Amino acid sequence: MPARPGYLQLHESGELARRIAAAREILRDCTLCPRNCHVNRLQGERGACRTGALPVVASFGPHFGEERPLVGRHGSGTIFLAGCNLQCVFCQNDDISQGGAGREITVEELAAMMVALWRQGCHNLNFVTPTHQTAQILEALPLAIAQGVDIPLVYNCGGYEAVTTLQLLDGVVDIYLPDFKYGDDAVARQLSGVPAYVATAKAALREMHRQVGELTGDPPGIAVRGLLVRHLVLPAGLAGTRRVMQFIAREISPATCVNLMDQYHPCYQAYAHPPLDRRVTREEFAAAVAMAHEERLHTRRQAQL
Ligand code: SF4
Repeated sequence: MPARPGYLQLHESGELARRIAAAREILRDCTLCPRNCHVNRLQGERGACRTGALPVVASFGPHFGEERPLVGRHGSGTIFLAGCNLQCVFCQNDDISQGGAGREITVEELAAMMVALWRQGCHNLNFVTPTHQTAQILEALPLAIAQGVDIPLVYNCGGYEAVTTLQLLDGVVDIYLPDFKYGDDAVARQLSGVPAYVATAKAALREMHRQVGELTGDPPGIAVRGLLVRHLVLPAGLAGTRRVMQFIAREISPATCVNLMDQYHPCYQAYAHPPLDRRVTREEFAAAVAMAHEERLHTRRQAQL
């Protein structure tokens, strides 16, 4: 019998309703993410993420390209949310994250997407780039629960998260799937346009790990709870892989599930930012794997349970 997602209990106790109200209130003077734009999204103002009070979705469907513990046999029920609180010059989905693609929908429609993915047998609901739409996701959740949804929620984010927002997700999110993109603030500022990325991501990962711990699953290897960290290796060591691996191993846990990713290729504005105008070499990726090995971290390209 699969574990029961925590959000069902929070819904039954009334705590989920309190969290929804608190998240919606944040939109009035938005500090949902560390950009702290202080715009009133309930009255149509937009901050750096250019998203208002309603959900904006680019696409949804079962996805088989995620990590194996999320995909299983029936896929990860992925909902690609439009907009982003980061502005990465090498974004591989820039039309969705920064180009305005996607459709503004109601929370009822978002709930209907969740229900459709659950009915298709997906093992989880995987919200991609959820940070700036956390309040809308929470609002849709009870509507989905009312129709029977009972699968784990995956928070698939860029790592630039406010701890206060993550605290509203304590017991709601079952699986955190953050990027840890950079080990150096100057690089983060130049490539993603945000200050203090490193300390912010560290605090976020600590809070995520406190809530859900290490990745655990059912016997067939399907993840049901825990933390899975992604790190995209960039050309010429720009991602600061050694520092990131050291932090994860020494300050989170050496048993943390890490997906070290080798698929970087130039996209969007990357050609104007050498050395991002080329792929990662075999030697660079091997060096990144060695850094993770030195910290005794798992180094599978596709994280497994
Ligand atoms: S969620 Fe959007 S509006 Fe709110 S602080 Fe972040 S970037 Fe600004």
